[in-house]
Amino acid sequence: MEHILHTNTNVLLAPEALITYVTEIFKTAGCSAKEAACIANRLTGANMRGHDSHGVIRVPRYVDALQKGLVNADQTVDVVTENDVMAVLDGKFGFGQSIGEQAVDKGIAKAKAHGISIIALRNSGHVGRIGDWAERAAEAGLVSIHMVNVKNSLLVAPFGGRDRRMSTSPFCAGIPMPGETPVILDFATSAAAEGKAMVALSGGKPLPEGSMITKDGMLSNDPVHLYGEQSVAGNPNPNIGPGALRTFGDHKGSGMNFLMEILAGALTGTGANAPIPDLNVRKVGNGMLSIYMSVEIFRSADEFASEVRNYIEFVKSSRPAEVGGEVLVPGEKELQTMNERNISGLPLSPNAWANIQACGDRLGVKAPA
Ligand code: NAD
Repeated sequence: MEHILHTNTNVLLAPEALITYVTEIFKTAGCSAKEAACIANRLTGANMRGHDSHGVIRVPRYVDALQKGLVNADQTVDVVTENDVMAVLDGKFGFGQSIGEQAVDKGIAKAKAHGISIIALRNSGHVGRIGDWAERAAEAGLVSIHMVNVKNSLLVAPFGGRDRRMSTSPFCAGIPMPGETPVILDFATSAAAEGKAMVALSGGKPLPEGSMITKDGMLSNDPVHLYGEQSVAGNPNPNIGPGALRTFGDHKGSGMNFLMEILAGALTGTGANAPIPDLNVRKVGNGMLSIYMSVEIFRSADEFASEVRNYIEFVKSSRPAEVGGEVLVPGEKELQTMNERNISGLPLSPNAWANIQACGDRLGVKAPA
């Protein structure tokens, strides 16, 4: 079976039209207008920054989860415990786009008032691109660190192993730069985010070499080892392939991934991953442990920004390894991609676009021309 649709002819969409369309899809599926717009804006924002894995390709999967009761519309976080500088929040499997916003805003408010804060978010629906949350904190002038696990999602093999024991567990940190673009480091601790495998499966950018391990312990970049022999149409399920994603950075990335399960999973109360009893009724949720720091409790914000700026210049002055290459700092690639896509439009593989349209059609929502 052909599981990757090889094509260079992406569909190009205007971001505003896509936001309107996706908003309508989520409104029709049962979200309030506010939440629907929040989901549409964040998914499209991920595409605009080049993270197609966390963009609108997720629409059919999100709608499916809503219809199956695996994620809930319009939730407000429950405060499990709270003091001046910390809180444990339960997201009750609400959409991560709005639950994440509530959790981050609480962390920001506490750090603004007391200099630092730690927020443990448990049981959130998919919080999407974690860089969104670091950007939100940076806009408020705060340094932030976010550690995330994906409960009930076993996609990644530990270093030295070939069986799935881990999730794609992202790590993210943001550095505010007053009046300038913040520095945002944001990546999955797997060699590729699952969504990138989904993008590759549906004809988009191929996965890096060696990002997968087969059931026999061989390295591969074919997403079939994650998804198995299933059609790219619809909502590909990453849980049924015989192989696994690998962690990034060999034993070091595997160790970081382990830490995400413990801090974002076990410590927040989301739970670290364990065998999944029934794949059909599992609730996939993110746990997120976030630390917020006001620069001013350490030193003047201007001095800090000037030092960060100098260091960026120093790093970027390294001679490129390849002719015509460029040294980038964290967050720069996303900014470049956003600038490009603001001009060229937002590219989607024909397959990803067909799946979104099929989802819209089922709800009676008309796609933009
Ligand atoms: P990635 O491999 O594209 O790495 C992104 C990071 O590397 C960014 O900080 C970027 O600025 C930096 N970068 C990119 N190119 C660079 C270059 N040439 N030089 C220097 N730095 C460079 O990201 P990924 O691992 O595919 O993750 C994609 C997204 O998936 C992230 O936004 C992550 O938060 C998200 N994610 C979310 C979940 C979830 O459950 N919510 C799970 C996994 C991943």
